[in-house]
Amino acid sequence: MKQLLVLSGKGGTGKTTVASAFIRLSEAQAYADCDVDAPNLHLITEQSVLPEKKDYYGLPKAEIHQDLCVGCGLCSRNCRFDAIDFDKIYEVNPFACEGCGVCALVCPAEAITLKPAVDGEMELYQNRNAVFSTAQLKMGSGTSGMLVSEVKKQMKSAAGEAILAVIDGSPGIGCPVIASISGVDMVLIVAEPSISGISDLERIVKTAASFGTKTAVCINKYDTNAANSERIQRFCKGNNLPFAGVIPYDLEAVRAINRGKSIVEIECSSGKAVQEIYAKTMKLLLE
Ligand code: SF4
Ligand code: SF4
Repeated sequence: MKQLLVLSGKGGTGKTTVASAFIRLSEAQAYADCDVDAPNLHLITEQSVLPEKKDYYGLPKAEIHQDLCVGCGLCSRNCRFDAIDFDKIYEVNPFACEGCGVCALVCPAEAITLKPAVDGEMELYQNRNAVFSTAQLKMGSGTSGMLVSEVKKQMKSAAGEAILAVIDGSPGIGCPVIASISGVDMVLIVAEPSISGISDLERIVKTAASFGTKTAVCINKYDTNAANSERIQRFCKGNNLPFAGVIPYDLEAVRAINRGKSIVEIECSSGKAVQEIYAKTMKLLLE
């Protein structure tokens, strides 16, 4: 199964818009939403079935058994994450605890145990034609990278003989993006023609290059800043990055997305442009 990952250096560039169009155009039998902090691909890809849900367990959390604690404070002094507070008694702040286990190791009274903790929820939509894997990380949890890996694993194990998977990646360049890139065949970066968009593009290109993953670039809303769009194309040329095309700013696209449709389901200029980008990207992916 070939895996195509759609990325952007940050949120709001149109990454999910492009990913949902690709899913529609390819009639993808497998797809996933790796934006586990704020998943929204399910809003644009109509689902005919209810999802199978399961809890996602991230890192465990320390728990102090007050009946055993002798109040020595060793756990608090040794916690690198300042996750153990003292106010008459020693208590673990579950939002700060990273589950490293050091406190349990140093506690002379064996008063600390590590308990599995639910850090989010995974969902798998499955029908005769496709599988869709997604998840929602619990607020305050710092294990987004691990959850992204689980989302991809869930998709792969349900995908059967699917020949193509389209993955909507996480925004940014951090841990969840690195987990998104791992193991995919190609990355398509959706850039926006702004100063920050160019900076984000440069960073995400570096991240993808460190994996040696084939990478192409397209520009969304290219006509909102022609000069910056040209800069992006020059950057691609200078770095031997295949350029897959441009998408114009299109109010019809906004209307389509607001109605839960992908931009290739209606007649619009952005939908036409994304079809060309899709054709180029597929050629690159399969060559
Ligand atoms: S498990 Fe690690 S992070 Fe959590 S309270 Fe103990 S020492 Fe701190
Ligand atoms: S190290 Fe153990 S005994 Fe000491 S304060 Fe922490 S929990 Fe209590």
